Amino acid sequence: MNFVNVNILKNFKTQISNFTNPSSQTQSRNQTDELNQTRVYRFLFKLPKWQVDQHSNEMKYFKNTYKDYSPSEDSLLLKLRSLISSLVDEKWKSTVHTFLNLESDNYSVYTGTSGIALLKLKKLPFERGNLEEVKCLLSLHQLKNHRYTFLCGDAGPLSIGVIVSHRLGNQAETQILIERLKELGKCVLDMNSDIPDEYLYGRAGYLYSILYVNKNVHPQPFDDNFIRMIIEAILVSGRTTSKALKFKVPLMYQWHNSYYLGAAHGISGILYLLLQAKEFLTEKDLNTLIKPTIEYLLDQRFASGNFPSSLGRDSDKYVQWCHGAPGFLYLLTTAYKVFQDPKYLEVALQCGEIVWERGLLRKGYSLCHGVSGNAYCFLELYQTTKDEKHLYRAIKFTEWCMDYAREHEENPPDRPMSLFEGVAGPLYLMLDIQNPMEAKFPGFSL
Ligand SMILES: [Zn+2]
Repeated sequence: MNFVNVNILKNFKTQISNFTNPSSQTQSRNQTDELNQTRVYRFLFKLPKWQVDQHSNEMKYFKNTYKDYSPSEDSLLLKLRSLISSLVDEKWKSTVHTFLNLESDNYSVYTGTSGIALLKLKKLPFERGNLEEVKCLLSLHQLKNHRYTFLCGDAGPLSIGVIVSHRLGNQAETQILIERLKELGKCVLDMNSDIPDEYLYGRAGYLYSILYVNKNVHPQPFDDNFIRMIIEAILVSGRTTSKALKFKVPLMYQWHNSYYLGAAHGISGILYLLLQAKEFLTEKDLNTLIKPTIEYLLDQRFASGNFPSSLGRDSDKYVQWCHGAPGFLYLLTTAYKVFQDPKYLEVALQCGEIVWERGLLRKGYSLCHGVSGNAYCFLELYQTTKDEKHLYRAIKFTEWCMDYAREHEENPPDRPMSLFEGVAGPLYLMLDIQNPMEAKFPGFSL
């Protein structure tokens, strides 16, 4: 419980005040190294992009100058949480109207209106007026039936739509949306289709949608047989690729002619989704396919302990949810729980150290490849170990997101309001961290 001292709390409050009141000239105690570095980077941002890349390839992250957790410090956990709670309301009010600027023809969870729908559902999960607003954001009448996953396809808005309609008590509409979601499964289950298996665009992303609906709607609309068929399609695909290309690992997956390993496009994300559906896996699946594949992945680590983005990549430069150690961490904590092997927890904790050291990314505060996504690693470790060091670290990364956002308001990402690239991501984190034992990386952890 003892991990936040009074100075840390005061500093946090001042920094957040700067963020929520951009006209304030208040200088926080801690506008030290990391802020000086962000100013340097802001300057670099004005250079042509290749020059920035050339400079930042050496150092893709800011040096973490935060004091690490110490059990000897006085506990202010409750006060800190209440402070975050009051500030998130303030931030919400100053930001929510800007979501109206999102492109209305982009309805994805990743960068479109359904991501804002998910954020609003997080804030007020059962309030009728809010549920009606969420439903409008899903654009359920405009879906184009061209992708199948939760984050980037129709399955995202459809599955959120099922939950919203169910909560509104509209049984007929709920049933129609369930049928539409199930219809997408025809292509997902077709082994002759060109649908990949990875999480962002492939079968694993469809599997998430189905599990997400079943977790939130009772009685569960999708039966065991349907879920097992999706899992078998993913396993058959992995075995076929591995055999055809003579890999010495039971499962291998290809996307865009590369063998990606990370959470968004690679094997670790696919295996994590499969392990979240553990009750639908046989002992044989677990012990002859999944466990040996995890062991193979452990052998691919760099000397630093970080993971490559794909096989054959020897550049140890990504520490973000979509590529590298942060995305692997979820597979490892889940593998630890499933197989009861302490080695997996040990490697997950090593991933946490890498994120603490190298996770304050120059790319910014996004969920997908930024600091708010990396903050979720510590929440996952906190839930797994109950060690408050990880909660402390998650709070420090959240603090940094707020500060960083102010420093870089003039250099927004391509979709600056969106859930996975923009400011909706850190807002989601601020809401989630108030109940840290229940926090889940949106659209990825069930
Ligand atoms: Zn990314």
